[in-house]
Amino acid sequence: MGQFGFLIDMDGVIYKGKQVVEGANRFIQRLLDEQIPFAFLTNNSQRTRRDGVIKLARMGIHVDESHIFTCAMATARFLASQKPGGTAFVIGEGGLLQALHKNGYAIVDDDPDYVVVGEGRMFNMETVEAAVRMILRGSKLIATNLDPNCPTAHGLRPGCGAIVAMLETATGLKAFSVGKPSPVMMRSARKELGLSTGGVVMIGDTMETDILGGVSMGYRTVLVLTGSTKREDLVRYAYRPDVVIDSIGQLCEEHIFQHVIEGLAVDPAPQEAPA
Ligand SMILES: [Mg+2]
Repeated sequence: MGQFGFLIDMDGVIYKGKQVVEGANRFIQRLLDEQIPFAFLTNNSQRTRRDGVIKLARMGIHVDESHIFTCAMATARFLASQKPGGTAFVIGEGGLLQALHKNGYAIVDDDPDYVVVGEGRMFNMETVEAAVRMILRGSKLIATNLDPNCPTAHGLRPGCGAIVAMLETATGLKAFSVGKPSPVMMRSARKELGLSTGGVVMIGDTMETDILGGVSMGYRTVLVLTGSTKREDLVRYAYRPDVVIDSIGQLCEEHIFQHVIEGLAVDPAPQEAPA
């Protein structure tokens, strides 16, 4: 089999709140030991890559920044490709601001090319009002993701999608979203790992983002039941994951790991042309 690798959601897959999912660290260690490419794919735009590394390290999972791929990065790279050296007004936090700066964007509070929205708590009516006026004057509305809410230790809080909905309703204009399940982020992460479409396994706990994104791209999809989806929910969806497992820890069992990668459609290594 040719090269294959994993895109892995974090929240609800690797941890729940501050609690690491049993076996997650053993599975990640296997990927590291066997040099199997992987990246954590998250719709959290608040954290930088470094923040993600530290959060995982505190749970006993030791990876480096190259293993973290956020919707903030995907958004910043996308905007830099669409309009190099542009300007943005940001409703969001550190991870998003840093990603935009790294990709040659300036943060402005007047007449930006884009109004870019991430989730977070630095949010007030004043910034929303400013954003609405900018959008009505022609700035384009970009969402890092459309997740309606985010799980926290104390229950759900409004996510980026909720903030975006407010701007959409006020302006009558629709946002362009870059995060999962958008093909922009799903493809960008695959390319970062240097894999072909048939060699990617997407592991996630949310049907609307992880699994839909993976199915749409033609990746192999694995749903874990440690997060937002229960087995009985699956009948409600028009698409389904290739494999359903109780927890990512089950991938430490060899026959389950083999079952997951057996379905991959990786081209064999190219034959050498006859002399
Ligand atoms: Mg999740």
